Amino acid sequence: MADDVYEAIFTKLLSLEIAPGGRITVDGLVRELEVSHTPIREALGRLEGEGLVVKTHLVGYSAAPQITRRRFDELYELRLLLEPDGARRAARRVNEARMRKLRERTEQMRKLNSSRGRSSYARFARLDSEFHDQIMEIAGNELIRDQLAHLHTHFHIFRLMYHARVTEEALAEHDSLLESLSSGDAPGAERAMRSHIERSRQRLLEAFA
Ligand SMILES: [Zn+2]
Repeated sequence: MADDVYEAIFTKLLSLEIAPGGRITVDGLVRELEVSHTPIREALGRLEGEGLVVKTHLVGYSAAPQITRRRFDELYELRLLLEPDGARRAARRVNEARMRKLRERTEQMRKLNSSRGRSSYARFARLDSEFHDQIMEIAGNELIRDQLAHLHTHFHIFRLMYHARVTEEALAEHDSLLESLSSGDAPGAERAMRSHIERSRQRLLEAFA
């Protein structure tokens, strides 16, 4: 049940049903989700750790403010430094079992994309985050993988805009990345990852327009 409560609040935050900076009252969530205070406080604590919720002394909980344009640029700059190189290494280290896992995740994302809705969007953000993490795991540098994971980049990026195009285009880009990985084409995988991140940046830049 704790996980369900967490997922419900995560969905509200990712799909902007709770606006960035918006107040979150524990009592309000207790009534709405019809659960006790404990799982709600647990979920909010976990979301605080992921940077999606802020707890202020004497005020209580609120949704984290939207990332700034500067932070957005910094996140993408960092991703472009680390992830294309990670994809290149992953292409040299990938095996059948790992490819199967990546394909499974891609299929889950494809199904979610066609069902639409707020909870699908939030689930898609999580799966995308896991997909990129899997590639960094295959790449084999745990320190780099940890750095990216701690930033929870995908949650902050997906929260900039609640739009179907964000998920649709990403699927095609993931497919070409998988193709390069599965044929062991290291330069191809590097290019595909770079292009995916650059296009993602372009799509979400609109949020600042
Ligand atoms: Zn992606």
